[in-house]
This record gives sequence, structure tokens and C-alpha cells, in this order.
Amino acid sequence: AVAMPAPKLELRRLGNTGLKVSSVGFGASPLGSRFCPVSEEDAIATVREAFRLGINFFDTSPFYGATLSEKLLGKGLKALGVPRNEYIVSTKIGRYREGFDFSSERVTKSIDESLERLQLDYIDIFHCHDIEFGSLDQIIDETIPTLQKLKKLGKIRFVGITGLPLEIFTYVLDRVPPGTVDVILSYCHYSINDSTLEDLLPYLKSKDVGVISAAPLAMGLLTENGPPAPDRHPAPPELKSACKAAAAYCKQKGKNISKLAMQYSLSNKDISTVLVGMNSVKQVEENVAAARELELSGIDQQSLSEVEAILKPVKNLTWPSGIQRS
Ligand code: NAD
Repeated sequence: AVAMPAPKLELRRLGNTGLKVSSVGFGASPLGSRFCPVSEEDAIATVREAFRLGINFFDTSPFYGATLSEKLLGKGLKALGVPRNEYIVSTKIGRYREGFDFSSERVTKSIDESLERLQLDYIDIFHCHDIEFGSLDQIIDETIPTLQKLKKLGKIRFVGITGLPLEIFTYVLDRVPPGTVDVILSYCHYSINDSTLEDLLPYLKSKDVGVISAAPLAMGLLTENGPPAPDRHPAPPELKSACKAAAAYCKQKGKNISKLAMQYSLSNKDISTVLVGMNSVKQVEENVAAARELELSGIDQQSLSEVEAILKPVKNLTWPSGIQRS
């Protein structure tokens, strides 16, 4: 018997790239996690299920699991056995286990290394990874021009920048020629506990820059079991304990905080894709189901209000990241 194809996830326009990305994106950092090791078989099955359910966007970095995430994602994508243009892959440069290096020389080497590990001929989106740890002027004057050359060579299609502090995005976008930075990837700023990315959306829209919002579960804080390594999570203790209380409240009411958190992040259509980290078929199924349910019947407004009330004292609380500038 032929299985009925699953209904596809909503696709959204990604800035001026011409790409249509699934509302839920696949974050591959958990495929490289040393806190929660994933077998090759499970990694392949997770990627397969994601694609089957309509996820067409996959994000990784050489930093995740010191290149393990790229290798496992590459194997998973290869195993799909579908034409290359049916999925969109982003990886990154500049952040490695050894440290940060955004130099032209390192970037030029990095692309070939990533292509080999991912078993691909080109990368759709190549991001500068966590640029607040580098010199933003070097990113503007050296890294991004090098990436334009890689575009011309056909090794990459689009360029992105990522990081935690939102000011890095305006700093760079105000100083580069239009069309050189196609997308931004922000994380931990569009979740129930922190929605500060919202203020930047009109600016990004005016530049027609695609918006990827990562970590809707606040890197594990908005899950029933919490992050895999709570002591390594960068959030201040009061944010951690408020999220824990919110998760416990949902559980006691028979609700799932991750579902609510996914739906919250997915509700803003000016965000092209919500990148959630996943390392199991079950997580893929739950997160896609959350998106489908949102499309069909909207968010559970009552539970959302209750969780927002619990998180109110820590709303928009974040943590320092990168080289501290005065
Ligand atoms: P996240 O908020 O997406 O949380 C992921 C965690 O929640 C993982 O531990 C995962 O196992 C767990 N999880 C996922 N679905 C679940 C479910 N339904 N129920 C319970 N637990 C569930 O945080 P993240 O993984 O750090 O971020 C998502 C992705 O975004 C990353 O994998 C990465 O690709 C990208 N990202 C990029 C940057 C950057 O470029 N600087 C920063 C953060 C994240």
C-alpha cells in the first residue's frame, strides 16, 4: 500500500532570497551535543522524518559538536535521496572549537571543509557565526566581501549573520551595500520569555532581509525536562527558575510548554522560519504537530496568558554575549 503523503508545513518567503522556507526549521546543533549523544541511525531517522513532514530548512555549524553536527546532517540529507533543490541548508563560518576566526583566509578554507562534511556542492545560506565575538568592522570590511566572492564562485547562494545582541544586526546592515547580507539569524529573542526581536522586524523588513528566529524553546528552558545541561545554560538563575516554574505549571495542568512556546514563536509571520533544535523523531513530530495545530485552530490563549504571567518578572531578561564593548 502507498502511504498517504503528509500535509505539508506552511512555507514562508525568506527576505529577497527567493527561497521558500518551512515555518519550522531544523536546528542541527543537538546532533552534535555531547550532553545528549545521538547515534548516526537516530540522526538519519530524525532528518528523514523532518523532511517527510515538510521541513525543508536545516541549519548547522562546524562549531556544533566540533564538526559532528555537519557530518551527521550531511549523512541524513544524503540518505533522503531527493534532488538537492528540495532542501535548504545553512551552515556557518568564524566560530570553531578552537575559537573565533572571521579572516578571509579562514573563511575560504572553511567553505570547502563544510561542503565536504555535508557532502554538498553548495550551501544555500552561509552565516557569520556569533559575530559579537569578532570585530564587527572586520566582518564588514573583510568577511562579507570574501563571502561575495564565494557567491560568485557558486559555492554559496546567500549570506547571513548571527548572534545574540540585537545591535549587531543594525550595526552591520547599516554599513554594508544592499543585497550583500541576505538574512539574519537571531536567537533567544522571540520566545514567550523574550520577544525583543519584534522591535527590529520593521527595520529588517525595510531592508528586505530575511529573518530566521532560533531557539523558540529558549535553548531548552521552555521544555518539560529543562535543558540537557542546566549548569551550562547561559541564562541568569532567576530566568532559569521562572522557566522551570512555568514548565511545571503547564505539566500540572496537562499542557505542554514546548508546544505553547513553538506556537508563540510561529505566530509572527514576519519571521520566516523558527529554528528549533531536534535530536529525535518524537521531537520532530511534536514540533510539526504544534505548527499544524496552530494553523488549524490557533494558540491556547488561556495557557499562554498564564505562562506569560509567570514569566512576567523576567520578561526580556537576557545575558551578555561576546566581546564587551563600551
Ligand atoms: P531550542 O530552543 O530550539 O531548544 C532545543 C532543545 O529543546 C534541545 O535540547 C531539544 O532536544 C529540545 N526539544 C526540541 N523539541 C522538543 C520538544 N518538542 N519537547 C521537548 N524538548 C524538545 O534551542 P537550540 O537548539 O539551541 O536552537 C535551535 C537551533 O537554532 C540550533 O540547533 C541552531 O541550529 C540554531 N541556533 C543558532 C545560533 C547562532 O547561530 N548563534 C544560536 C542558537 C541556535
